Amino acid sequence: MDQLYRAMSSIKILRCSVGEVFSTLANGLCADHGEEGKETKFLLEIQELLSSATQHLSNMAVSLMSQNSLKRSHTNSSTAKRKKTQTSSHNVPPQTVDNVINSIDRLFPDLNLSFSRPFHTNVVLQVSLGQVLQAAVAFRGLMIEWVVVKGYGESLDLWTESRHKVFRKLTENAHAAMLHFYSPTLPDLAVRSFMTWIRSYNSLFNDPCKRCNYHLHSGLPPTWRDLRTLQPYHEECKP
Ligand SMILES: [Zn+2]
Repeated sequence: MDQLYRAMSSIKILRCSVGEVFSTLANGLCADHGEEGKETKFLLEIQELLSSATQHLSNMAVSLMSQNSLKRSHTNSSTAKRKKTQTSSHNVPPQTVDNVINSIDRLFPDLNLSFSRPFHTNVVLQVSLGQVLQAAVAFRGLMIEWVVVKGYGESLDLWTESRHKVFRKLTENAHAAMLHFYSPTLPDLAVRSFMTWIRSYNSLFNDPCKRCNYHLHSGLPPTWRDLRTLQPYHEECKP
């Protein structure tokens, strides 16, 4: 659990530093850079921001890897049997990714899925669940790399947060679920488990909390779903 939180906080730091790169690029050359050699100064500034983002990325990789080794030792007995079918989760042919997504689409008719490949081979999946929520899910191969959850009717992209606190909380919980279900040996199962988890939000605004039995707590519905039982809880009532 400790490692999960460390991984999540490094994802947040990475996101901030990548955001800084984009905003500096968007501002372009400005008065700060002066007249003399302004292009060079601008480029140096970008380079500095990029290297700090890279540093954060490698920190994140380290904390994710330590989390995986924990998972492996935990599931050692079962992975031995599955060795034969082992695939690398981020180096799979596009056709395999298409097949996995299509099978999920058939399995869960209440999830509306569509996908595109804006960054060459990697898929960005758009999920909508009834009139409750929608999510943008970025993949690297078959590994879920980033998720943003927004409300029904909000504009959906990977870079901006929801206007509503409830969906910002869901985005945060989706990151926890993405790391929890991640499996380098059974990536398709990881994706299916994540989708099963997100589907449990179809009654987000109707479910009472399993612990306190109230609908609202601090003005929010139960935004947590137990990762195993999928039962609804308020953040404050989590088991
Ligand atoms: Zn509660």
